[in-house]
Amino acid sequence: MRVDFNINDADLRGSKREFTRNNIHPRILAVLPTIKFLIKRGTKVVILSHRGRPTTIKSSKFKVKNYKQSSLKPFGKILSSLLKKRVNFVNLDALSLINRTKEKIRGSITGSVFLLENLRFLPGEDKNDKKFAKQLASLATFYVNDAFSVSHRKNASVVAITKFLPSYAGLLLEKEIKNLSRIMKNPKKLLVIILGGAKVSDKIGVIKNFLKEVKGQKSKINCFLTGGGVANTFFAAQGLPVGKSLYEKEMIPAARQLLKSRKIILPVDAVRKDKKILDIGPKTAEKYSQIIKKAGTIIWNGPMGYIEDPKFTKGSKAITEAILKSRAFAIVGGGETTSIISNFQFPISKKNIFISTGGGAMLEYLAGKKLPGLEALK
Ligand code: ADP
Ligand code: MG
Repeated sequence: MRVDFNINDADLRGSKREFTRNNIHPRILAVLPTIKFLIKRGTKVVILSHRGRPTTIKSSKFKVKNYKQSSLKPFGKILSSLLKKRVNFVNLDALSLINRTKEKIRGSITGSVFLLENLRFLPGEDKNDKKFAKQLASLATFYVNDAFSVSHRKNASVVAITKFLPSYAGLLLEKEIKNLSRIMKNPKKLLVIILGGAKVSDKIGVIKNFLKEVKGQKSKINCFLTGGGVANTFFAAQGLPVGKSLYEKEMIPAARQLLKSRKIILPVDAVRKDKKILDIGPKTAEKYSQIIKKAGTIIWNGPMGYIEDPKFTKGSKAITEAILKSRAFAIVGGGETTSIISNFQFPISKKNIFISTGGGAMLEYLAGKKLPGLEALK
């Protein structure tokens, strides 16, 4: 079963130092129903995930430089306490000795749960390597994808593995698709897309797709509200000095092209420190809130500012408040975006917000792109 445990240490612990039952990350809670479903029906579950971008040290085969931040070991403990049963953690050495792991699984009792170490510790995962996928597949009799948020990536445990096993969608994946497709089939008028955050190239690509989608037909998209690194890249494309702010230089030509569309709205003021733009300013927050007020459907991915510092969360907070006050239906996705809105501790009414576990995957899906992980299941 492929899940997405790509959660950094700070997010994993929340505001507290320790892991407690009350601060379990939503991404972990989200896959519990499928794990429990499988256990109940008498299977053994082998859980697969990646975490972060580990850099392996070439000289020694299995040494990873940023081991602590990228190991999945802590997740074994968390899962174990949530499932109230032992979770067998299979570290990398054991994974390399795939046969031994196979025997261990075979010898275990029904309902046993295994968690494999970060798949990115091995080179095959990112490369969608068939041999590696076949090795992983040899551990099981069927495959379940419950990682919607990585289904836009051509990875061995998402795509290639489906060539070797009967493959199914997990309950979380199903829920995501049901909700997202329902909304997109019939978006209420005035669709507003809010884009901030860091992965600028992903988002610029998505804007292009959204604009293409609506070409010819009556345009469904009212506007794109920008913040974070996305807005900074547009500023740079306009030739404005962005100093040391977060932006993507390579995306400037694409951003320049997109600026021809009047639908892209840029911040009108900013919060700065040390020659960096770190949040949208109060005037922008007010302007965006007014637009959100009139929206029918909202899609949001990417925080408005450098949210790791509480001083720069005001923009994202204003957006969250505006959404909650509006009558619009909102889809909010992305690791940092969903964690910051839950940190604000507003009473989020499930009625007008769907929290998606996907960031990039959610945007690509909504823009009408085919996701390799989903195609593979067909
Ligand atoms: P998500 O995880 O929700 O998909 P991203 O990963 O694209 O969002 O971006 C989240 C990151 O963007 C956060 O770590 C945040 O600090 C960073 N960020 C947003 N705006 C700024 C900014 N103005 N300057 C620096 N970092 C920013
Ligand atoms: Mg992120």
